[in-house]
Amino acid sequence: MRRAWAGIGLVVAGCDANPVDHTPEDPRPSVLLITLDTTRADHLSPYGYALADTPIYDQLAREGVVYTRAYSTCPLTIPSHSTIMTGRPPPSHGVRDNGDFILGDDAITLAERFSEAGWATAAFTSAFPTSKRWGFGQGFDIYHDPLPRLPTQRDWRDERRAGEVIDDTIALLGELDEGPVFSWVHLFDAHWPYDPPPRFANAHPGRPYDGEIAYAADEVARLLAWWDAEHPRSIVLITSDHGEGLGDGGEQTHGFLLHDGTIRVPLIVRTRGLDDSWIAPGTRVDHPVSHVDIAPTLLALAGLDVHPEVMGRDLRDGGTQETWSEALTAQFSLGLSPLYALTDASGRYTEGSRGAFYPFVGTEVLPIPDVRTDLGPWAQRLGTVRASFDEVIAPEATLDGDDLAMLQALGYIGGDPTAEAGEVDPRDVIGVIPLTWQVRQAIGARRYGTAERQLAILEAHMPDTWGVDHLRASLLLAQGRQEDALHRFVDLFQRAPSSTIALHIAGIHASRAEWSEAEGWFAETLALQPMSPEAMAGLVRTARAMGEPELAWERTMAALVQHPDHAELSVARAEMLLEDGRVDDALDEVSGAMDALAHHPWAHLVLAEVRWQQGEAEQAIDALHEALRLAPFDLPVRMQLARWLLEVGRNAEARRTIAPAARLLPEVPEVQALYAETQAAVDAELGR
Ligand SMILES: [Zn+2]
Repeated sequence: MRRAWAGIGLVVAGCDANPVDHTPEDPRPSVLLITLDTTRADHLSPYGYALADTPIYDQLAREGVVYTRAYSTCPLTIPSHSTIMTGRPPPSHGVRDNGDFILGDDAITLAERFSEAGWATAAFTSAFPTSKRWGFGQGFDIYHDPLPRLPTQRDWRDERRAGEVIDDTIALLGELDEGPVFSWVHLFDAHWPYDPPPRFANAHPGRPYDGEIAYAADEVARLLAWWDAEHPRSIVLITSDHGEGLGDGGEQTHGFLLHDGTIRVPLIVRTRGLDDSWIAPGTRVDHPVSHVDIAPTLLALAGLDVHPEVMGRDLRDGGTQETWSEALTAQFSLGLSPLYALTDASGRYTEGSRGAFYPFVGTEVLPIPDVRTDLGPWAQRLGTVRASFDEVIAPEATLDGDDLAMLQALGYIGGDPTAEAGEVDPRDVIGVIPLTWQVRQAIGARRYGTAERQLAILEAHMPDTWGVDHLRASLLLAQGRQEDALHRFVDLFQRAPSSTIALHIAGIHASRAEWSEAEGWFAETLALQPMSPEAMAGLVRTARAMGEPELAWERTMAALVQHPDHAELSVARAEMLLEDGRVDDALDEVSGAMDALAHHPWAHLVLAEVRWQQGEAEQAIDALHEALRLAPFDLPVRMQLARWLLEVGRNAEARRTIAPAARLLPEVPEVQALYAETQAAVDAELGR
């Protein structure tokens, strides 16, 4: 989208006949917002880091204003960027965690404001958490977030290096017509894993995190050299979304705790060619300010009014000097207590299952509490601030298996926004929290002994917490102890009704061909999360399994209206096409979904059915083998495989396939009958 240039007050977008086009007096400045992911303030040169190799930030500090005590509202990418873009803290924009929420359409973003006022708007982002799907596209004419989805990268990470992002930024901004631009550039490099390009790795031996920061700074310098030549009137603002623990408070990465390592961020603002007075170049501001102050400052500096939904304050008026931060990941993913914090000039009060005050000493808020502080007044202040937010929950994100895998590859566990808050404070168990991730990996890799040992440690440190009990149930399920797993999941559900748990329970019933129970739990899931595509797909599957094809078709169509591209619903549609005898169409449909659902047994089951109807018995049996490998305790899959093996005369194999189920389920007549049939076939083959 190109916007023609126009004098202020004569904003006539796209009107070529406008005689004031290309007048050089347009007073509207261009705006460049750069967010450096995972970059601690105290690892940059303007913040006193002796080992820093970031000269471009020194230059910006000399030409602009450095905020030495700027704080993020949340140590996670998606909530934090939602705050930067809206000027609202997480309780008010509703994006409280990574992966579970989308910034809603009702949010008013910087890009929307600049776009409405005639600025061209362009975003260049470098990683999955800042891709358009999280609601960040609002107001942007250009949203450049290409992520190569090579299969080899799925288990690694999905990010683009700064060099590529800056190349694209310069190329695409260079194609715009003259006129003011609002551009956001996001560089993910400093995020784990730390893997700087060789030149920067060699220059920072043993310090790859600093190497990543130096590399990103080098690319920022290249962008700014170009930008300053193109945009003589401009505002440049650099910050990070959050920092990195690097061991502070016992935390290595970020997301769980609220200390300076993860929430103190760089914030440098530089203006050029503006009439409006700004603080003298080289000024350093030492009182606390917040990310919520970025939006009002950029709007006001650009000459736009600050809309009333913005909750921060113009930095020129001092900004927000009592700043709010929160970390709810511990609650949503593990059932620990959530953390909330207020930071002012004296230090930080953080409240989890207990309160503590951390004093400001020298240049930072120490991660060590001052036990003499009277916490009563602090607790009251925090409560008052929290009550003023009118808390909201943003629309829930719907992710397919691929999306979840990508978030998990970046180290995010993915939680449940309905998870109960527990009594265990994440500050007390931060050292063992990484084990939760390792247990998941061990279960996924079927290293059950390892999972068992690690889980025992977690159970000792976090007794009766939702997340650990959930891991225990998952391990039981993986080990084939379905009955025990089911009891655990039902117990978890009774403690805190959650769509995730309901979906697990539904899945267990489906894997035992208990279709009406499965249907009930899929319905329960949908009641708790009305947009859940997994639950919609489950209801299609149960209707079909219970012999109600009309109902299944109705449910498929209704679900596709909500999620036209969701992989699981493609599988549901494939099943229906198959039912209609449209075998080739069904194959197209399910094949398209297999990439995203490679780990999903049901997708392989449907693929198998399509192959079988095409007369490709061997391929059908192969697909079922894969389904069974993924879900060894799925009864419908096992029975189907045994039946087909019988049909193609692989009788002994059929018997071997159904025998374990026959032993485990003596009370299920269908299983016993099928086993008897395979036995008879083997006997006949041997002439017995
Ligand atoms: Zn981030």
